[in-house]
Amino acid sequence: MINDTPSTEHPAAAWAGENIEQILDIIYLAKSSADQQEIPADELRKIQERELRPMWLDQTDNPLSNMARNAVAGDNADLDRTLAYLTDQQTSLLLRHCILLGHLALALTLLTRVSDVDWKMSNNETALMLAAGAGHHEIVTALLHRGASVEAEDSEGWTALSRACRAGQLRVIRLLLDGGSDADHLDRLGRSCLQLAEQCGHQRQLLRLLSEQSAEQDVGTASATLDGQSIGSPVDNQSLDEEQSLELHQWLNSAGFTSERAQSLQRFADFIQQMARGMLPENWTMTGSYADGWANSLIQVNGRTGADSDIDWTIIMPQVFHLAGGCHCEELRGNKRLQVVQGHAQVEVGTGNQPAVAAAACGMRPAQDTCYAFDCCSGYCKQALMDLQEITREDSIRDCVHLVKATRPNASNELRVSFSFEEKKILRKMNSVQGQLFTLLKFTFKRYLPGNLDTPGLKTYNAKTIMFFMLKRHHREEEAEWQPKNLIKLLKESLDMMLSFIESNSSPDECMPHFFMPDAPLYFKNAGLGGDFDNTKSMVRDRLRQVRSSTEDLFQALQKLMQPLQSKSFYFHPFTLLPLTQPSIKRKIHISGGYPHYADVYGVICYCVKKLHSKSCDKEDLLSQLKLLESLPWCKSAVICLTAMAHLKFKDITCAVQLMKELISHKVMNGLKIEHCGRRNNCTKFFLCCQSHGLDWAWRFCLPWTAVPEFPFLPEFTSSLLTARIEHPRSSHLYLNFRCLSWSLQAELLDRG
Ligand SMILES: [Zn+2]
Ligand SMILES: [Zn+2]
Ligand SMILES: [Zn+2]
Repeated sequence: MINDTPSTEHPAAAWAGENIEQILDIIYLAKSSADQQEIPADELRKIQERELRPMWLDQTDNPLSNMARNAVAGDNADLDRTLAYLTDQQTSLLLRHCILLGHLALALTLLTRVSDVDWKMSNNETALMLAAGAGHHEIVTALLHRGASVEAEDSEGWTALSRACRAGQLRVIRLLLDGGSDADHLDRLGRSCLQLAEQCGHQRQLLRLLSEQSAEQDVGTASATLDGQSIGSPVDNQSLDEEQSLELHQWLNSAGFTSERAQSLQRFADFIQQMARGMLPENWTMTGSYADGWANSLIQVNGRTGADSDIDWTIIMPQVFHLAGGCHCEELRGNKRLQVVQGHAQVEVGTGNQPAVAAAACGMRPAQDTCYAFDCCSGYCKQALMDLQEITREDSIRDCVHLVKATRPNASNELRVSFSFEEKKILRKMNSVQGQLFTLLKFTFKRYLPGNLDTPGLKTYNAKTIMFFMLKRHHREEEAEWQPKNLIKLLKESLDMMLSFIESNSSPDECMPHFFMPDAPLYFKNAGLGGDFDNTKSMVRDRLRQVRSSTEDLFQALQKLMQPLQSKSFYFHPFTLLPLTQPSIKRKIHISGGYPHYADVYGVICYCVKKLHSKSCDKEDLLSQLKLLESLPWCKSAVICLTAMAHLKFKDITCAVQLMKELISHKVMNGLKIEHCGRRNNCTKFFLCCQSHGLDWAWRFCLPWTAVPEFPFLPEFTSSLLTARIEHPRSSHLYLNFRCLSWSLQAELLDRG
């Protein structure tokens, strides 16, 4: 078993405490003995007396997630079988566990089966508090409907509202306030909800909900001064614009915003995706700005991800949906076609909620963001894609859309139709000038426009949408329009388009139409919450007009942020960019098409580091695992370091010293060059090339890790390099930099002579 360190525990079990393992074992047994309709008495006894190791701990596909999937499909047979064995208290515990894990459909079902909705844990925590803190508005609504108490306090004196404020869950706060929560409640230390929010850094947005009165006065004076400035209609000077455009184009080029570098980034993304798919059972696809190749960092294009950006993964779930207006299936096999209203498919309660779990923050950089999606049997609203026919490839018109967990403000039981795979294809086709316009729009909307406003207003998706409309408008004019000298003209045109979208409807929440689905509006962030958020639109509009009238400030801010590239190389450490999962144990490195399976290599490294850490470790087993990697020159420093460490663990200093001597003249590769991943090459070819030239590129790793890292057999400084961790309370990973470890081991071992 890979979890041989006793402190390694499923994090959810640690939070839930109080016998949840036992309940899960009962679920497991109820399921496995379904044929006999009863649990063998002696097995049940063993489980209750904790003699059996909980089986679900080692399974990614555990019985609970199975049951949660069935709940989405409305099949509660397993649940009913399990409930027959559970006490009232255990049922409440199970509900609590489902809320923690985000199994929302199952939680909604369980909610109707618990006898006491206000059942309390030992710290007086109720289900409502849990759901409120986690932002599960569907659960909060259902609990309020069942009469859950909004006044209950936990041992800190926090109510559900206090918890939602601490977590900055705006939609839940709105629900709780409407449900009669006391906004003036004070906790055990006399802190108000607003003060709690402030301590957690959510103060500015919450202020607008909790004390709408005072916030409205502030804004009143602010807009008065804006009106006083009397912004005239912009006068554009064409030749000046062209001159500045060329300068701007040069600046963007020097920071690496070119289609050539974007394509390299796209290839890296594909390579990481290929690695991830080798490790994970599900169908993971990288989406978002890293995969698009444009503006995953606004500073420069060097392979690093900006601090406010992340790596997005979309995981396609096995269930397939059929959309009215898209589906042409002849046989629906019991499924019905879903009606789509304003870009949202109308579904049964709880459908698609599971298992959309926002991964707990673990301090990993860049953050990995996973989104679960359901395939549709067909495409949808294909006209917009056809309009871009010369940009997109023919084949994307045949693609299927998918559904993701998102609703319109204040709506529920619906899933948003998502075009993210098509969008990725379009963005990947853009030329340098198009990519630069997109980068400028993203910078303007996300960084510059918010300025000192306390709400971001526009998001990356709005920049993307404007970009698509611009591509559509000018798609036949590649030569004439998409020229470096037109960059500022194009930017101004985009801003005018954004302004006219904002002004074309009177709703305070809507900002523009969806590009693919003309009847579906896009909304401002925090739309539908009312109060002072209704002023977001006018604030964004005023700021946009300011920017439109003079772009001078915008470009100064841009040049402060963007930095010319110091080196043409890309930062590329794929083994630190994978989604963190426990790899399965590998006994062999598989080779296919002439290159090794990278997932196998990652699995072996992970296994060896865990063995090094473990108290029960067999020397021969460890060394034979490391031998599997011996023939791979591209991870030579990692393998030699680990082998030397293994010898140190078993007190064989001479062998360790000998190995470190081998590394003295060894050089690792510092960054990838664009020639390696140029237009004509794909990544597989590149890595084959690395193999034959003996380049060592795989010297940084990030491994899943929950135990306290202790390596007492290593020399002092090397050991401190391994155990220094990113400060984060729920850190669940270990970073290894074998270049540093190798230098440090050489210094400490070779000094001894
Ligand atoms: Zn993201
Ligand atoms: Zn269909
Ligand atoms: Zn080569």
